[in-house]
Amino acid sequence: MTDAGGGKEWTGAEEERLPLSALNQYSYCPRRCALIHVEGVFVDNAFTLEGTLLHEQADTAGYETAAGVRVVRALPLFCRRLGLTGKADIVEFRGGIAYPVDYKRGKRKTWANDDVQLCAQAFCLEEMFGKPVAAGAVYHAGSKRRREVKFSDSLRAMTERVITEVRNLISTQEIPPGHMKPQCAGCSLHEICLPELSKSSADQAVANLFRMD
Ligand code: SF4
Repeated sequence: MTDAGGGKEWTGAEEERLPLSALNQYSYCPRRCALIHVEGVFVDNAFTLEGTLLHEQADTAGYETAAGVRVVRALPLFCRRLGLTGKADIVEFRGGIAYPVDYKRGKRKTWANDDVQLCAQAFCLEEMFGKPVAAGAVYHAGSKRRREVKFSDSLRAMTERVITEVRNLISTQEIPPGHMKPQCAGCSLHEICLPELSKSSADQAVANLFRMD
Protein backbone atom coordinates (compact mmCIF):
# COMPACT_ATOMS: atom_id res chain seq x y z
CA MET A 1 0.00 0.00 0.00
CA THR A 2 1.30 3.50 -0.79
CA ASP A 3 0.49 6.93 0.59
CA ALA A 4 -0.27 10.07 -1.39
CA GLY A 5 3.42 10.85 -1.59
CA GLY A 6 4.18 7.49 -3.17
CA GLY A 7 5.91 6.04 -0.10
CA LYS A 8 5.01 2.84 1.70
CA GLU A 9 2.30 3.09 4.33
CA TRP A 10 3.29 1.84 7.76
CA THR A 11 1.84 -1.58 8.63
CA GLY A 12 3.50 -2.36 11.98
CA ALA A 13 1.98 -3.35 15.33
CA GLU A 14 0.33 -0.84 17.67
CA GLU A 15 3.17 -1.10 20.19
CA GLU A 16 5.69 -0.22 17.49
CA ARG A 17 4.29 3.24 16.89
CA LEU A 18 6.92 5.92 17.24
CA PRO A 19 6.50 8.52 19.97
CA LEU A 20 6.56 12.03 18.53
CA SER A 21 9.25 12.98 21.03
CA ALA A 22 11.63 10.47 19.40
CA LEU A 23 11.52 12.52 16.20
CA ASN A 24 12.53 15.59 18.16
CA GLN A 25 15.39 13.73 19.84
CA TYR A 26 16.67 12.28 16.56
CA SER A 27 16.64 15.67 14.85
CA TYR A 28 18.59 17.04 17.82
CA CYS A 29 21.07 14.16 17.88
CA PRO A 30 20.63 10.62 16.49
CA ARG A 31 22.82 9.24 19.27
CA ARG A 32 20.61 10.85 21.94
CA CYS A 33 17.56 9.30 20.31
CA ALA A 34 19.21 5.88 20.28
CA LEU A 35 20.40 6.11 23.89
CA ILE A 36 16.84 6.89 25.00
CA HIS A 37 14.81 4.65 22.68
CA VAL A 38 17.21 1.73 22.15
CA GLU A 39 19.22 1.69 25.40
CA GLY A 40 16.38 3.00 27.60
CA VAL A 41 18.59 5.68 29.17
CA PHE A 42 17.23 9.00 30.32
CA VAL A 43 18.71 11.59 32.64
CA ASP A 44 17.08 14.88 33.51
CA ASN A 45 19.00 18.11 33.70
CA ALA A 46 17.78 21.62 34.45
CA PHE A 47 16.69 22.02 30.84
CA THR A 48 14.66 18.81 30.65
CA LEU A 49 13.09 19.41 34.10
CA GLU A 50 12.01 22.86 33.04
CA GLY A 51 10.57 21.39 29.86
CA THR A 52 8.69 18.73 31.83
CA LEU A 53 7.18 21.37 34.14
CA LEU A 54 6.10 23.39 31.13
CA HIS A 55 4.42 20.38 29.56
CA GLU A 56 2.67 19.54 32.85
CA GLN A 57 1.18 23.03 32.88
CA ALA A 58 -0.08 22.51 29.35
CA ASP A 59 -1.13 18.91 29.98
CA THR A 60 -4.31 19.44 31.95
CA ALA A 61 -6.77 17.83 29.57
CA GLY A 62 -9.83 19.82 28.61
CA TYR A 63 -11.03 22.50 26.29
CA GLU A 64 -12.26 26.06 26.30
CA THR A 65 -13.71 28.37 23.69
CA ALA A 66 -12.84 32.04 23.33
CA ALA A 67 -13.37 34.47 20.48
CA GLY A 68 -14.44 31.71 18.13
CA VAL A 69 -11.34 29.59 18.83
CA ARG A 70 -11.79 26.21 20.48
CA VAL A 71 -8.69 25.35 22.49
CA VAL A 72 -8.09 21.67 23.34
CA ARG A 73 -5.35 20.78 25.82
CA ALA A 74 -3.37 17.52 26.07
CA LEU A 75 -5.00 16.01 23.00
CA PRO A 76 -3.88 12.40 22.31
CA LEU A 77 -2.56 12.06 18.76
CA PHE A 78 -2.03 9.21 16.34
CA CYS A 79 -1.20 8.71 12.70
CA ARG A 80 -1.86 5.25 11.29
CA ARG A 81 -0.32 6.12 7.92
CA LEU A 82 3.08 6.83 9.46
CA GLY A 83 2.80 4.82 12.69
CA LEU A 84 3.01 7.71 15.14
CA THR A 85 1.63 8.32 18.62
CA GLY A 86 1.86 11.20 21.08
CA LYS A 87 0.07 14.11 22.58
CA ALA A 88 -0.37 17.77 21.63
CA ASP A 89 0.10 20.36 24.36
CA ILE A 90 -2.57 22.57 22.79
CA VAL A 91 -4.58 22.42 19.58
CA GLU A 92 -6.55 25.47 18.56
CA PHE A 93 -9.45 24.95 16.17
CA ARG A 94 -10.58 27.82 14.01
CA GLY A 95 -13.51 26.93 11.78
CA GLY A 96 -12.66 23.26 12.23
CA ILE A 97 -9.04 23.72 11.12
CA ALA A 98 -6.47 22.48 13.63
CA TYR A 99 -3.50 24.62 14.69
CA PRO A 100 -1.11 22.78 17.05
CA VAL A 101 0.90 24.73 19.62
CA ASP A 102 3.85 23.03 21.32
CA TYR A 103 5.40 24.42 24.51
CA LYS A 104 9.19 24.49 24.68
CA ARG A 105 11.59 25.86 27.24
CA GLY A 106 14.09 28.55 26.34
CA LYS A 107 14.27 30.75 23.30
CA ARG A 108 14.30 29.76 19.67
CA LYS A 109 16.89 27.07 18.93
CA THR A 110 19.33 26.69 16.07
CA TRP A 111 18.03 23.25 15.22
CA ALA A 112 14.88 22.11 13.43
CA ASN A 113 13.97 19.44 16.00
CA ASP A 114 10.97 21.34 17.44
CA ASP A 115 9.65 22.05 13.93
CA VAL A 116 9.96 18.39 12.94
CA GLN A 117 7.99 17.30 16.03
CA LEU A 118 5.31 19.93 15.35
CA CYS A 119 5.04 18.87 11.71
CA ALA A 120 4.54 15.27 12.83
CA GLN A 121 1.70 16.53 15.06
CA ALA A 122 0.21 18.08 11.91
CA PHE A 123 0.39 14.71 10.13
CA CYS A 124 -1.57 13.20 13.02
CA LEU A 125 -4.17 15.98 13.06
CA GLU A 126 -4.65 15.80 9.30
CA GLU A 127 -5.41 12.09 9.52
CA MET A 128 -7.56 12.37 12.67
CA PHE A 129 -9.75 15.26 11.46
CA GLY A 130 -9.48 14.82 7.69
CA LYS A 131 -8.49 18.42 6.98
CA PRO A 132 -5.18 19.97 5.93
CA VAL A 133 -3.11 21.61 8.66
CA ALA A 134 -1.09 24.41 7.13
CA ALA A 135 0.66 25.85 10.18
CA GLY A 136 1.18 25.63 13.91
CA ALA A 137 3.34 27.36 16.49
CA VAL A 138 6.09 26.69 19.01
CA TYR A 139 5.66 28.67 22.23
CA HIS A 140 9.11 29.50 23.57
CA ALA A 141 8.82 29.97 27.33
CA GLY A 142 12.18 31.76 27.50
CA SER A 143 10.97 34.60 25.32
CA LYS A 144 7.25 34.12 26.03
CA ARG A 145 6.66 34.26 22.30
CA ARG A 146 5.00 32.10 19.76
CA ARG A 147 6.89 31.31 16.60
CA GLU A 148 4.66 30.25 13.74
CA VAL A 149 5.80 27.22 11.75
CA LYS A 150 4.47 26.68 8.23
CA PHE A 151 4.27 23.06 7.22
CA SER A 152 6.04 23.52 3.92
CA ASP A 153 6.74 20.72 1.47
CA SER A 154 10.39 20.74 2.54
CA LEU A 155 9.55 20.48 6.26
CA ARG A 156 7.06 17.69 5.53
CA ALA A 157 9.69 15.83 3.50
CA MET A 158 12.29 16.29 6.25
CA THR A 159 9.84 15.02 8.87
CA GLU A 160 8.93 11.94 6.84
CA ARG A 161 12.63 11.24 6.35
CA VAL A 162 13.24 11.52 10.09
CA ILE A 163 10.37 9.09 10.74
CA THR A 164 11.96 6.55 8.39
CA GLU A 165 15.40 7.03 9.94
CA VAL A 166 14.14 6.70 13.53
CA ARG A 167 12.29 3.52 12.61
CA ASN A 168 15.49 2.14 11.05
CA LEU A 169 17.50 3.16 14.11
CA ILE A 170 15.12 1.36 16.45
CA SER A 171 14.86 -1.76 14.28
CA THR A 172 18.63 -2.12 13.88
CA GLN A 173 19.22 -1.29 17.57
CA GLU A 174 22.44 0.45 16.59
CA ILE A 175 23.81 3.30 18.68
CA PRO A 176 25.43 5.95 16.47
CA PRO A 177 28.85 7.12 17.67
CA GLY A 178 29.10 10.30 19.72
CA HIS A 179 30.84 13.43 18.57
CA MET A 180 31.31 16.80 20.26
CA LYS A 181 28.99 19.36 18.72
CA PRO A 182 27.02 22.42 19.86
CA GLN A 183 24.00 20.31 20.89
CA CYS A 184 26.10 18.55 23.55
CA ALA A 185 26.13 21.68 25.73
CA GLY A 186 22.42 21.35 26.55
CA CYS A 187 22.17 17.56 26.46
CA SER A 188 21.19 15.78 29.69
CA LEU A 189 22.96 12.60 28.50
CA HIS A 190 26.38 14.21 28.17
CA GLU A 191 27.92 12.36 31.12
CA ILE A 192 26.67 9.01 29.85
CA CYS A 193 27.48 9.64 26.20
CA LEU A 194 30.96 11.11 26.76
CA PRO A 195 31.23 12.53 23.23
CA GLU A 196 34.71 13.93 24.02
CA LEU A 197 36.04 10.37 23.81
CA SER A 198 34.83 9.77 20.27
CA LYS A 199 36.61 10.91 17.17
CA SER A 200 33.82 9.91 14.82
CA SER A 201 32.15 12.59 12.77
CA ALA A 202 29.50 10.29 11.34
CA ASP A 203 26.56 11.72 13.26
CA GLN A 204 27.78 15.29 12.82
CA ALA A 205 26.99 14.95 9.15
CA VAL A 206 23.45 13.85 10.01
CA ALA A 207 23.04 16.60 12.62
CA ASN A 208 24.01 19.25 10.08
CA LEU A 209 21.02 18.26 7.98
CA PHE A 210 18.80 19.78 10.65
CA ARG A 211 20.50 23.17 11.01
CA MET A 212 18.17 26.08 10.41
CA ASP A 213 20.75 28.85 9.92
S1 SF4 B 1 26.16 14.51 24.49
FE1 SF4 B 1 26.17 15.21 22.36
S2 SF4 B 1 26.61 13.41 21.10
FE2 SF4 B 1 26.03 12.70 23.14
S3 SF4 B 1 23.84 12.28 23.00
FE3 SF4 B 1 24.03 14.37 23.76
S4 SF4 B 1 24.00 15.70 21.95
FE4 SF4 B 1 24.39 13.58 21.25
